[in-house]
Amino acid sequence: MAVGTDPKRMRERMVSEQIEARGVTDERVLAAMRKVPRHLFVQEALAAHAYGDSALPIGHGQTISQPYIVALMTELLEVKPGMTVLEIGTGSGYQAAVLAEIGCEVYTVERQRSLYAIARERLLEMRYFKVKCKLDDGTLGWPEEAPFDRILVTAGGPSVPEPLLEQLADPGIMIVPVGRSKRSQELVVLRKKDGSFTEERHGGVAFVDLVGMHGW
Ligand code: SAH
Repeated sequence: MAVGTDPKRMRERMVSEQIEARGVTDERVLAAMRKVPRHLFVQEALAAHAYGDSALPIGHGQTISQPYIVALMTELLEVKPGMTVLEIGTGSGYQAAVLAEIGCEVYTVERQRSLYAIARERLLEMRYFKVKCKLDDGTLGWPEEAPFDRILVTAGGPSVPEPLLEQLADPGIMIVPVGRSKRSQELVVLRKKDGSFTEERHGGVAFVDLVGMHGW
């Protein structure tokens, strides 16, 4: 981070210009986005860009999502403190930290060993003890800890992974970027209630690929 820049002020600006300006209003989400030090979730060389309006590379062809997309998905999840949330695609650990900051118990799965190791260490160092990390194919979910009040997939797949449908609590909400072509998907919001699902679709997004047993 360049000398003279104040991360807290950069976060205030990020929230007002990129997130509130686009219509996110959930105070819990806005407060968490103002608090989590995003610049510590990217490599030092990219820290100066951490509060910009874009996704950033985190190595191994993967990215930390654009701040607005993190805020939008967190708002769509309708999380409350104390809820259990399963995240597929830990990546940098930033989204998990935002959920933990809100007071959720977060279970996050990453399939890429070095990203898993770096994120786990980072989250521990930052004292996000409400986040549990696992190295595995997240399209299988985390059956030992199911059911989850909320499930968030942060990579784009061909369809909603079947095991996740079963691991969602009732009532529960799950968000998955789904699309035919890689790197261009729609955000699918699934609600489970009384044993049945309803589906809503929210605009286009561009996530890295969800791979694995129920992925590409
Ligand atoms: N939520 C992350 C960004 C995720 S990028 C953040 O806040 O930084 C998508 C991540 O999903 C990548 O790290 C990729 O390795 C991971 N991924 C892709 N397929 C996966 C799978 N089947 N199981 C677990 N992780 C997966």
